[in-house]
Amino acid sequence: LLPGATDASGRPATLGVMGGGQLGRMFVQAAQAMGYATAVLDPDADSPAGLISHHHIRSAYDDTEGLARLAALSDAITTEFENVPAPALAALAAQRPVAPGAACVAIAQDRAAEKAHFMRCAADGSGVRPAPYAAIDTPEQLAAVADDLLPGILKTARLGYDGKGQARVKDRAELAAAWDRLGRVPCVLEKLMPLRAECSVIVARGANGDCVSFPVQKNTHHDGILAVTEVHEGAIEPALARRAQAATIAIAQQLGYVGVLCVEYFLVDDGQGGLDLVVNEMAPRPHNSGHYTQNACDVSQFEAQVRAVAGLPLRPPVQHSPAIMLNLLGDLWFAPGREAAVTPPWDALLALPGTHLHLYGKASARPGRKMGHLNITGPTVAAVRDTATKALALLG
Ligand code: ADP
Ligand code: MG
Repeated sequence: LLPGATDASGRPATLGVMGGGQLGRMFVQAAQAMGYATAVLDPDADSPAGLISHHHIRSAYDDTEGLARLAALSDAITTEFENVPAPALAALAAQRPVAPGAACVAIAQDRAAEKAHFMRCAADGSGVRPAPYAAIDTPEQLAAVADDLLPGILKTARLGYDGKGQARVKDRAELAAAWDRLGRVPCVLEKLMPLRAECSVIVARGANGDCVSFPVQKNTHHDGILAVTEVHEGAIEPALARRAQAATIAIAQQLGYVGVLCVEYFLVDDGQGGLDLVVNEMAPRPHNSGHYTQNACDVSQFEAQVRAVAGLPLRPPVQHSPAIMLNLLGDLWFAPGREAAVTPPWDALLALPGTHLHLYGKASARPGRKMGHLNITGPTVAAVRDTATKALALLG
């Protein structure tokens, strides 16, 4: 699908997206920059992507009429969040190319299916193993959990994000209580791993099988939410980074995945003074940890998604600057001791060298809400670190 093309009725080449959050917004911006028209389906009148898209279909994600309109408007369709109902993607796919496909999204929606896929990749030698785990759907499976999975983390198989839907458990009593609290829904119990650091890898794969990898991102979370991503020399040991990239490409290839995929990894103690890789989870879409690509790479993760979805060539991304990304959460709008929301000090932040502000156009700030991010680039790692230190001081 070439940008700027029109069909027989004069309709411009249009990319559709399920979901209107910030990831959809940045996809829409990348698509529009390349000359595509865009259509967003999201029930929220103020959705960040809907606000700037050529078309905004305000309907539920499983609404037959809304889906039919999205298909009629779009030449190809993607998704910006993994909890799109898989049947909705399947219905769209009957009319238009949809990337990633419903089957891949269904696997990413379910931690047990996701881990089973990681195990298959590890078994054939192309992947990296997940933490030891057990799927818990029934009281019998709960009772049969192996002792060496404790202490562990109980996670709901579906709908968890930003550390929600999880409980740390020390012993069997805590495990049973946590499963009760989570509503006895299907869960996965994972062994608690000795994390030294966390990283993630973004790849883009086209329908022709071409698959390219972005550099490996080192991630720091606060309260279960991504806070900082660093991508520069010295952040991750090169041999581990290469393994993570190869494993991520294998995960995408074995799914026949089309689009942008992010896979998260843990760096754990290997028991011999070194570090080993453990695969955690995947997101069938661009990812918060990949936002630095907007300013530090010659192609952003969103442009890569446009290229993959539209069937345009994918070239290996080149990072041209060390980068640090700081997430801007709604908490910043609430200065200590004040009732009303205040505007953060953008002027002082933008006066620092190498800062690039990205705000998502959300009308109201709430603590914990992702409002935007600050990408920091510069000539050297030291320069980028220095700016990050100053930015963090301004942000308080
Ligand atoms: P979410 O969908 O909320 O991102 P994750 O599975 O990524 O869920 O877990 C959130 C965070 O909890 C991880 O980034 C990591 O810091 C920590 N965590 C998750 N699983 C484990 C584990 N098995 N061992 C140690 N820490 C873990
Ligand atoms: Mg995670």
